[in-house]
Amino acid sequence: MKRLLLFLLTAIVCGNAICQDSQRQRLEKHLYTLAADSLNGRKAGTDDAFRASKYIEKQWSEMGLKPFVGSSYRMPFSLFGSDKYCNLVAIIEGSDPVLKDEYIILGAHYDHIGIKNGEVCNGADDNASGSTCLIEVARQLLADKTKLRRSVIICAFDAEEIGLFGSQEFAKYLSINGLIERVQLMMSIDMVGWYKANGSLIMEGTGTLSDGNNITNPTCLGVDINIKNKTFENSIFTATDTEPFAKKGIATLAVTTGLKSPYHKPQDDADLIDYEGLDLITNYITALTVSISKQESDIPSGKVAFKHREKKKAFSLGVCMGYNTSNLHFHNAAVIGKSLYGGQAGLMMQFNLSEMISLRADALYSFTRCRMTTANDAFGNGFKLQQQSATIPVMLQFNFGNILNSFYLNLGGYYSRTFEGKFYDNVPESAPSYLPNPDQWGIVWGLGMRLGYHLQLDLTSYYQCNNIFLETGGLPKARKTMFTCSLGYYF
Ligand SMILES: [Zn+2]
Repeated sequence: MKRLLLFLLTAIVCGNAICQDSQRQRLEKHLYTLAADSLNGRKAGTDDAFRASKYIEKQWSEMGLKPFVGSSYRMPFSLFGSDKYCNLVAIIEGSDPVLKDEYIILGAHYDHIGIKNGEVCNGADDNASGSTCLIEVARQLLADKTKLRRSVIICAFDAEEIGLFGSQEFAKYLSINGLIERVQLMMSIDMVGWYKANGSLIMEGTGTLSDGNNITNPTCLGVDINIKNKTFENSIFTATDTEPFAKKGIATLAVTTGLKSPYHKPQDDADLIDYEGLDLITNYITALTVSISKQESDIPSGKVAFKHREKKKAFSLGVCMGYNTSNLHFHNAAVIGKSLYGGQAGLMMQFNLSEMISLRADALYSFTRCRMTTANDAFGNGFKLQQQSATIPVMLQFNFGNILNSFYLNLGGYYSRTFEGKFYDNVPESAPSYLPNPDQWGIVWGLGMRLGYHLQLDLTSYYQCNNIFLETGGLPKARKTMFTCSLGYYF
């Protein structure tokens, strides 16, 4: 009896071990095949890349994945006059009658850089690791299909290394066919073979998701893995297949173990890959995908990394309207001018010199009102001053991304043509006649925030440097400071 028990126990333990090992063994097999010397580094457009795609195709069809379009996974495209480029695309349909029309895209590029200086670059980490992982994620998702509520599109992208062409083609395909709006999230699995060396799996782009930091939490997903979240893909030196989707405003996650491997070098080989880590990552991505497919609330946050925003036009024109407060500061006089209220409206022009710097010039009508009083309010309600002017601030605008949606600082100077200035209400007889200085100028600075593609909010401060009254007005020297809060709309 004891023996039987022992046997059963051993069988259970071994059985589990075999079960666990089998995904890991498959991962090793895929990776060694895709990163084999015989594939010569899978350069896009070559027979070697074609053979790599054949291997992936065979794996997919054996497990019973459904092609995304028609009866083949192959979605060929031409590039540089050649039609030897091809994405492989499959779909696992969600179980929810409504949500299944929404997509989560999981992508990994299978091409690499081929032969460099006579040496084969096998690209084991970049990106046989991602392609391998994707095959096994697809297998797990397929087995657990009923748990998926949204549909999952599985993509093996071609021609990433030569310019993200595969993912670009597929994003274009979805746009042309009116399907891009259905995409809730695009995840690119690129270079995931060095988990142990990196110490974590990096999830870049959690800020593009409404619940990014919670949803990626491995504890909630029941996977014992170390995750490092990055709000946005920041680096301008790296790019992956997320880019063409992100530029269409889609939420994206770039999944990677970083640049620990011999990047784009002949040494990036299969024997250096951390298969235990790859196994863990496969389980994690599967659990994450299932969880996101079930999310009740909106998946995208609506925020996009600065580097993924559509390139700005060289010139943009907009209108704005706002509220302002203005104060008068007198030189050597007990009197002050306390702001009542004011307003402004006008045009905004922006010349975008680079992604970072723009030249901005506005043409604004503004009116300001303030109450003349003393520091201890000795005048009581006092008498009031109204000015109407046309103001032109010219500023350099420094754009920063990745903080909220996008945020900028302005600094420059302004000129104001004052065409009306008058005292009104209880003007004391002793008050000197007031002649406004028609030419007022000073410095201007401010900060602003984009609230989407068209709207922006500006907080601007004007500091007048010359005198607001003409010398002949008999009033002491005074300057005006103005603070404005305005909402702008760019066409
Ligand atoms: Zn890559």
